[in-house]
Amino acid sequence: MRRVTALVLALGGGAAAEPPARTLLLEIPNVPAAEQTSTGRFYYDGYSFERVIRMLRDTAVIRATPAEMAELKQAGYPLRVVLETTDEMRLYRRAIYGPALQLSPVYHRYDQITALAAALAVAHPQLISRLQIGETQHHRRPIYAYRVSNRAAVRQDRPRVMFNGAHHSDELLGTEIVVALMGKLVNGYGRDAEVTRWLDTLEIYLVPVVNVDGHDMVTSGRDPRWRKNLRDVNGDGVVGQFHEGVNLNRNYDFNWIMGGSPDPAKIGYRGSYPFSESENRAMRDFAADNLFVLSVSYHSSGEVIFYPWSWGGMAAPDDAIIKRIAGEIAASIPRTDGTGRYDIAPGGASSQSYAWLYGHLGIIDLIIETGKGAHVFPPEEVPGIVAANLQGVSALLGHTNGPGLAVKVTDAATGAPLVAQVWLPQIENETVDRRTTDAEFGRRWRLLEPGSHYVIISCPGYRTVVLPKAEVGPAGWTPLEIRLERE
Ligand SMILES: [Zn+2]
Repeated sequence: MRRVTALVLALGGGAAAEPPARTLLLEIPNVPAAEQTSTGRFYYDGYSFERVIRMLRDTAVIRATPAEMAELKQAGYPLRVVLETTDEMRLYRRAIYGPALQLSPVYHRYDQITALAAALAVAHPQLISRLQIGETQHHRRPIYAYRVSNRAAVRQDRPRVMFNGAHHSDELLGTEIVVALMGKLVNGYGRDAEVTRWLDTLEIYLVPVVNVDGHDMVTSGRDPRWRKNLRDVNGDGVVGQFHEGVNLNRNYDFNWIMGGSPDPAKIGYRGSYPFSESENRAMRDFAADNLFVLSVSYHSSGEVIFYPWSWGGMAAPDDAIIKRIAGEIAASIPRTDGTGRYDIAPGGASSQSYAWLYGHLGIIDLIIETGKGAHVFPPEEVPGIVAANLQGVSALLGHTNGPGLAVKVTDAATGAPLVAQVWLPQIENETVDRRTTDAEFGRRWRLLEPGSHYVIISCPGYRTVVLPKAEVGPAGWTPLEIRLERE
C-alpha cells in the first residue's frame, strides 16, 4: 500500500507540474535610441541572452514571456512574434542563426579555414606557411597560426605583426576578417603594390581562431551562444553545457585577479589561475617568441577599439603612440550604419590579451570590437564589416615602419644575438615589465616619437650600455646596433 501511495504521489507530482513554459521570440522595429541605452528597455549588453539577444540598427530581437509581450503591446511597440516555443535551444538558433536554424555558409568552419589555407600554400608555397602554436584545452585540437611574407618558410629579422580572431567563439566576425586578410595578402602579392610592400618588409602572422573548441560549438550549430572554451569546469565529464568553460580573454597573467569573475558559472570566468588554459599558453608562447610590434585581437561588438590602458585612471607609458595608432585605425573603419567611424577607448589593465601583451611583452595589442549589436551577424552584414575592417588593417600596417629604434644586441666577441633588456627609463615606469630583444636575432623593434631618447641596454654577464641621447629619426626605423662586452 505504501508503495502504491508513493507511486501515485510521484505520478501526481508529475501531472500537477506546469507544462513547460512557452517562450516568445519577438522582433521589435524602430526602437527609439533612448530605449537602447543602458537604462533603456532594449539595452543590448552583449553578454546576457536572457532578454535582448540582438540589437541590430534599430531592430531588437528579444526573448519574452507572454506577460512581457502583453506589456510591450500595451506600451505601443509594433512587435512581431518570430517564434513561440518550449525549446530554448531552438529559440536561440532562430534568434542567432536566422530562419534556417543553422549557421550561414558565409561563415567558415575551422576545417574549411585549414583547407583554404592549405590550398593557398599549394598555390603560393613561398608566401604562406602554417605553424601549430598549441592545442585546445578540451579536445586537444591543433591551434594554427599562419606566417605570411615573401619568404614564409623561414622566420626573418623583420618587424612582425599579428592578427587573431575568436578568443570568444561566438564573435565570429574576427575569424572572417582574418581569413579574408589571408586571401587578400597571399593572392595580392605581386599584384597589389601595398600588399607586395607589406610582404616584402614584414612578417604577418594570422591566428584565425584562438578558441577552436568553442568556435566549433557555434559553427556546428550545437550552441550559437558559446563564448568560452570547452573546459569541463565542474569535472562531471559533460562538456558543452552553457555557461561552462573558461573565458579566454580573462585568463592572461597581467593583474589577472583584477579582471573577470572567479565564478565558473559566469560568462567572465577567468579560470582557476593565470594561463590555466592551453589556448592562452599557446598565445603566450607564440607572442613571447615573436615580440610583435603590433597585434589585433578581433572581437564583437561595439564598433570601438580598446587599447592599453587606463589603470585606475593612469595611462600606459606609451599612451601617445598607442592612442595615435588606435585613433588612425578607428578613423579608417566606417560604422555599419553609415554614421561615422569606430571609436577608441582605453581598456582596464587586467587579464585581457592587450594587458598582458603590452604590459609584459611591450606588444601594442588592440581589441577591435567589430560590428554593433550582435555577436553572430546575419549573413548580409558580414561582407561590409569585413571590408571595413580590412581598411583598418591597412591603417595599422602603415605603422610598421617606425618611427622608432631597430635595436639589435649582440655579443661583441662572438657576434651571437643576445636577449637583452632595452629600457627607456624616461618612458617605461614600473607598471610595465622590461622589454627585451628576441632570442633569434637579438632584435627589438621599438616604436618611439622622433627625437632624443634615454636608452639602457643590459644583459646578465655583460657590461650595461647607457645611451643618454639615442636619436630617433623622423621616419622609418633608426638602426641601433649594440655589441655588449662580457664583464
Ligand atoms: Zn569578445
